[in-house]
Amino acid sequence: MSQRKLKPATIAAHAGSVKPQSGTVPEVEPIYQASVYRFADLDTVDAVQEGRAEGYVYGRYGLPNHASLEQVVAALEGAEGAVVTASGMGCILVTLLAFARSGDQLVASRDLYGGTLALLTQDLAQLGIEVRFVDDVQQVEQAITSRTKLLLVETITNPLVRVTDLRRWVDLARRHQLPLVVDNTFATPLLCRPRELGASVVLHSLTKFLGGHSDLLGGVTCGNTQFVKRARTLSIHLGTNLSPFDAWLAARGIKTLGVRFRAANSNAQTIAEFLAQHPKVTKVYYPGLPTSPDHALASELFSGGYGNMLAFEMQGGLAGLKRLLKGLDLIGLVPSLGGVRTTCSHPAKTSHRSLSAAERQRLGISDGLLRLSVGIEDAADLLSELEQALEQV
Ligand code: PLP
Repeated sequence: MSQRKLKPATIAAHAGSVKPQSGTVPEVEPIYQASVYRFADLDTVDAVQEGRAEGYVYGRYGLPNHASLEQVVAALEGAEGAVVTASGMGCILVTLLAFARSGDQLVASRDLYGGTLALLTQDLAQLGIEVRFVDDVQQVEQAITSRTKLLLVETITNPLVRVTDLRRWVDLARRHQLPLVVDNTFATPLLCRPRELGASVVLHSLTKFLGGHSDLLGGVTCGNTQFVKRARTLSIHLGTNLSPFDAWLAARGIKTLGVRFRAANSNAQTIAEFLAQHPKVTKVYYPGLPTSPDHALASELFSGGYGNMLAFEMQGGLAGLKRLLKGLDLIGLVPSLGGVRTTCSHPAKTSHRSLSAAERQRLGISDGLLRLSVGIEDAADLLSELEQALEQV
């Protein structure tokens, strides 16, 4: 602050403006908790706004914590760039609007996260965008019209942990010159990198495995420079920007993605094998099981394991599940996924609650289905917890 004699209100308003003098730099990126930047003069305003000089302007347009997070996710996904948003839903909206406008249409797999389904069925119609759902990749060609602007799938579907044959979707997208948008939240770029297979855009809920600690909400969408430019403009206009602190938390979480991923994958495989042979479990959905209909496909598409997500059906349906849940202690009933702790969630009552019972039945989501997001604990503790809880059913 200047040495002029200032009044208290002025001094108070300028608190925190002093820059510490130091010949060294922080080892980790600080949180740039600033909503706006100060310009030296009007020439600098022009230079920054016109892209002739580097500089940040305003929080909604992007901040240093956004930029570094975007860089790391774009590198992980093999994309030219990325745009971070305040949530996974925010990035899905931005991504879809980057390609489709009123009068357009998109083709989506029906096997999607419930929130995405709700956006597609309830809100896009209001914007004049029609959605055509397909149950299988074989139906895509029939669903495409001259108004189709994009194809949308999830790498691993929520909640039935089915594996999408991205190569077949890429073929169709290429043949019809359409962008393929892939929600890679369940897989993470350690398991699968859809852009290497030919997808145009890959997006994530940062809230889940990338953030990894159940302490932030965020989303990220990655693609080529042209897409990133359009998505950023939309994010600025729609106000879907991420908070600097959540961006910092996400970047911090990503630093341990490799070790978390390895531990969670290994635990999920162990648990899936245990559940698959248990007499009180009627069905296990996990692509790492040789009996899974997706095992061969997953082995071709994935590297380093089969993911941390699995689902299973209990004997006795909902009543059986309620008894099982009473016996769980370490494994909490938590309607999210991808944290360091193993958690479970009931899709019919949470992620897919907005669907009618008939729609859920059509998707194969029964009341006896429990989804597990496997964490990084010691596998022996998870197994003994499940074993004793199953005894009580
Ligand atoms: N995509 C998938 C696959 C999800 O499971 C979720 C949330 O559960 C989302 C997107 C939405 O993410 P967010 O809750 O961060 O908005």
